[in-house]
Amino acid sequence: ELYNQIQETKGNIRVFCRCRPLSKEEISAGCALVVDFDAAKDGDLGILTGGSTKKTFKFDQVYTPKDNQVDVFADASPLVTSVLDGYNVCIFAYGQTGTGKTFTMEGTDQNRGVNYRTLEQLFQIAKERSETFMYNISVSVLEVYNEQIRDLLSTSPTSKRLEIKQSAEGFHHVPGIIEAKVDNIKEVWNVLQIGSNSRAVGSTNVNEHSSRSHCILHIMVKSKNLMTGDCTKSKLWLVDLAGSERLAKTDAQGERLKEAQNINKSLSALGDVIYALATKSSHIPYSRNSKLTHLLQDSLGGDSKTLMFVQISPSERDLSETLSSLNFATRVR
Ligand code: ADP
Ligand code: MG
Repeated sequence: ELYNQIQETKGNIRVFCRCRPLSKEEISAGCALVVDFDAAKDGDLGILTGGSTKKTFKFDQVYTPKDNQVDVFADASPLVTSVLDGYNVCIFAYGQTGTGKTFTMEGTDQNRGVNYRTLEQLFQIAKERSETFMYNISVSVLEVYNEQIRDLLSTSPTSKRLEIKQSAEGFHHVPGIIEAKVDNIKEVWNVLQIGSNSRAVGSTNVNEHSSRSHCILHIMVKSKNLMTGDCTKSKLWLVDLAGSERLAKTDAQGERLKEAQNINKSLSALGDVIYALATKSSHIPYSRNSKLTHLLQDSLGGDSKTLMFVQISPSERDLSETLSSLNFATRVR
């Protein structure tokens, strides 16, 4: 309720910034910190850009390295609830490789992230409402790599090329993609593991591959009001974006260059769409040239809700990438 009231006055886009802790390696190398969290509670993040200069960035929330997965999910959970009320929702993690995008979304066995907690909450609320509503929840796991869509739940070794099609009612969908019906959180964990494992297939370096692809968890919720017979359908997209870092000069050729160009194109297309929505522009540039925004088109804008986690490193070494991520975020907020 409260969230929806705030939404009406603030629009449907939220940007949260999360800073990871220094790594052991950074600590032993004596890396300097460039982040100032003094006003983090008010959504202000300070970045020491050299000398005595401090630049301040404003967010809807700022998470320090001390904030854990529970703290982070607490602020995302109203959006998850709104999916059961019929809203479409997109949650993204944006940032340089190594800043915690996968930690925030997937998390680890011990520290489960937004994806798992989202489904856990969906089942929880569905159960609470079971006298009035019947819910049907299914999930797809896909990857966009070099502008090609791959079904991560497919076990077929010769997975066919997947394309985005528009239905007669105008909805975008991917014919042939596996939609796994899930009835409880245990089944979800299995499905997420299958998706996560097949990301590795066919790549020599899993981490490198995953940093160059967008990993997308798509949750479909169908609801039926048992009193009135009313049905709704809503979509929730949880996206671990490809790393936003610029290409090293030494890599600026061949396959690497092509990957980098595709990532760049899709991240800026996404930025353009969110910027247009945030500024209430009359033209929203859903680009057919970018699989990501094309795929998410029905769930960005209108009364859909969007949350972007901008992930950053606290280390001086990463300062220029950090500033570039923060500038991206400031533009869309
Ligand atoms: P990305 O997906 O952006 O490349 P990762 O999620 O793989 O980054 O994070 C890089 C490393 O930092 C991982 O070892 C991860 O566990 C750790 N890490 C990231 N964020 C946090 C955090 N908030 N708290 C503790 N460890 C973190
Ligand atoms: Mg990652």
